[in-house]
Amino acid sequence: MRKTGLLVIGAGTAGLAAAQYGARAGLDVTVLEGPEPGGQALNIEALENYPGWSGSGRDFAAALRLQAEGFGAKFMNASALSLEIFGKGSGRYFSVTMEDGVLQAKAVILALGAEPRKLDIPGEEEFYGMGVSYCAACDGPFFRNKKILVIGGGDAACDSARALARIAASVTIVHRRGELRAQKAVAERVLKDERIKVMLNYAPSKIQGGGQVHSVVLISTETRKKIEEAADAVFIYAGLVARNGIVQKPELIEKPELDEYGFIVTGQDMSTSVSGLFCAGDLRASAFRQVVTAASDGAVAAHSAAAYIDQTLENNTQ
Ligand code: NAP
Repeated sequence: MRKTGLLVIGAGTAGLAAAQYGARAGLDVTVLEGPEPGGQALNIEALENYPGWSGSGRDFAAALRLQAEGFGAKFMNASALSLEIFGKGSGRYFSVTMEDGVLQAKAVILALGAEPRKLDIPGEEEFYGMGVSYCAACDGPFFRNKKILVIGGGDAACDSARALARIAASVTIVHRRGELRAQKAVAERVLKDERIKVMLNYAPSKIQGGGQVHSVVLISTETRKKIEEAADAVFIYAGLVARNGIVQKPELIEKPELDEYGFIVTGQDMSTSVSGLFCAGDLRASAFRQVVTAASDGAVAAHSAAAYIDQTLENNTQ
């Protein structure tokens, strides 16, 4: 049976920051990471709104991971299949089941993040990888000098439209409301960018093509009239869905509180409603999701988990 003090599940910005802070505080930290650690930061071409950093999100994530490792955090390439809680009081511990074994921990930080919300329209699944994408930094270069539609009006849609405009023949943002919902500065940059066309009050209803995407049917949210817009690629930024599967599993008998959208509710100290279980980053219920807030969440969660573990040990020796 493998044992660790603090188990961090997820290796995006929040998980990596938690690992660094936890290890630096002297905890025995294990991080479960996927095949490509780094989380959402990997999609950011130029990380211009993280204080003190202006390089790529990919380089940022790699530096974070190295730092955590440098302080002694251990990394395992494994998925957490289920989480259980055993024992009472000072004997309480978490047990995570992975494909090739079980790991016990005194405290757990969930930093599993969120994934792109699907539009659930005809053609979206069929043309995924053939013109439909959720990641401009990953797939944008395939559409050099092509016509691109970006769906959504948030920060991710606006940031990605600007990155895509550098390589595409044309970029059009399609947003279902009368104004963009992105942060003011982000939206204004898009509206002033002559390379980007913004189509407001239109929602996508169908993606069409042969071997590749060739057009998207859009429906006016005002008149309900349909139009067909030619496109070689559609980049979808319709928001995020919480990766909360592990807390929904029956093995976890004590369930953390979720908000109405499925994000985990925490206190300011990142504690959930389950003792010893913490949450950081995009999986946490929060109004503002940024790389910088994920890093901050991770640091706070590790600090709180360390205090929780100390308290448990103290109770053990009394
Ligand atoms: P978001 O802010 O939730 O925006 C999602 C957009 O998709 C909204 O405009 C929404 O329209 C639209 N949408 C949702 N479902 C749709 C559907 N079925 N059909 C058409 N449009 C649909 O999500 P996000 O832009 O992915 O950002 C996620 C989080 O990451 C946010 O907290 C954001 O601040 C953060 N982020 C920050 C930056 C940055 O600071 N530069 C960059 C990227 C992401 P409505 O407006 O009508 O709801």
